[in-house]
Amino acid sequence: MVGSFLTRRRFIEAGGSIAATSLIASAGTAAPGQTSGAASVKGQPMPDGVKLPATPPRPRAPDSVGFAIVGLGGYALNQMMPRFKDAKRAHIAAIVSGSPEKLQRVGDAYGIPANARYSYEDYAKLASDKRVDAVYIVLPTGLHADWAIRAFAAGKHVLCEKPMALSSADCERMIAAGKRANRKLMIAYRSHFEPYNLEAMRLMKEKAAGDIRLLRTEQSYRMGPTSPAENWRTSRALAGGGPLEDYGIYGLQSALYLTGEMPESISATTFRPTGDPRFAEIFAHVSSQWRFPSGAVAQLVSSYDSAGINFAEVRGTTGVLSMNPATSYAGQKMQLNGRELTPGDPGVQFVGQIDHFANAVRDGTPILTPGEMGLRDTRLIEAIYESARTGRTVKLAPDAKMRA
Ligand code: NAD
Repeated sequence: MVGSFLTRRRFIEAGGSIAATSLIASAGTAAPGQTSGAASVKGQPMPDGVKLPATPPRPRAPDSVGFAIVGLGGYALNQMMPRFKDAKRAHIAAIVSGSPEKLQRVGDAYGIPANARYSYEDYAKLASDKRVDAVYIVLPTGLHADWAIRAFAAGKHVLCEKPMALSSADCERMIAAGKRANRKLMIAYRSHFEPYNLEAMRLMKEKAAGDIRLLRTEQSYRMGPTSPAENWRTSRALAGGGPLEDYGIYGLQSALYLTGEMPESISATTFRPTGDPRFAEIFAHVSSQWRFPSGAVAQLVSSYDSAGINFAEVRGTTGVLSMNPATSYAGQKMQLNGRELTPGDPGVQFVGQIDHFANAVRDGTPILTPGEMGLRDTRLIEAIYESARTGRTVKLAPDAKMRA
């Protein structure tokens, strides 16, 4: 049913597929009163429908990594915080929010001591809080860089939500700050810990569809009526160009990890309708075409104004791998040459990334999705926008730092 609006969370929770379109119409994810272009952090009321835990967490491992959760919005409250109870080596040690009401309700529900509930003004005090080893940045994207850099200055490791930041310069600042502080930086690209995507990577590496010739990805949903003043996802300062950074990043990542290649050229187009407050500052659609050194081509589409889909397909010389939904929270479906594959429970991706990061912090094991990967992807996003702006194909020099 094209024409219905969904909140982003409800769409993706429902599997990110067209089947989800029976859900009820609703406005955007942020509360009214939010101003566009805000460079500062702000408190918001609790989102609707948050289920807070009723039971205390299990006993911790002696070397469990203590996390401060920075930003108590929809994704933190509904997806990530509830998964910490299943982590082998991580726990929530502190919370940071601009809303005293959220600090109290969430702090009480998670058993966070009163002196481990921080406002943004008190953020620097984390430096002397020995209970906190790492921070998890779950703020609007335009705020990631500054709050990650401040966390490094406080001597903490950083797990940062995707997309890493809105410019490659900000990504570089984050990486440099982490190195200076000798602390770890990981981007929360959950698909690298999700059984369907891991199996798809393995199959493509084994050439289960032969040599890859074509790849298509599409990440779209129809955003409800809103404006930059109401929803940070439509604010250029906080969300960049919009659907590509927020949702299309999954297709961009898939194109890289399924082909195992970096593109050598990109051509792109964007569309921003006039007179629609949702698209006063961001694009409605971003579409790009990539060519890889092997000769394979990819088409990537992301949209905030078309019926929902979360899709990836690879066509090779001997077969087809199809994923729909491809990178959702749950409900993944995957076929190889028409045969249904069920490699595991997508639900493990959330805690998988938490434990992976905790192991890197404690044992120094390599991070699969480091800051350099977030920088690589941000550079590709910049190339997409450059092509769309200039109307020219952008050629990408082979760069070891940008390996797929
Ligand atoms: P949200 O709007 O639900 O929450 C944002 C939080 O940031 C709120 O608690 C809000 O109070 C706070 N905030 C602080 N300053 C703000 C400001 N100036 N404007 C607006 N909010 C401000 O957003 P979300 O969906 O939780 O997204 C947060 C981050 O998580 C984003 O980086 C997003 O890309 C990422 N995310 C990742 C996934 C994933 O699957 N990995 C899914 C959803 C969101």
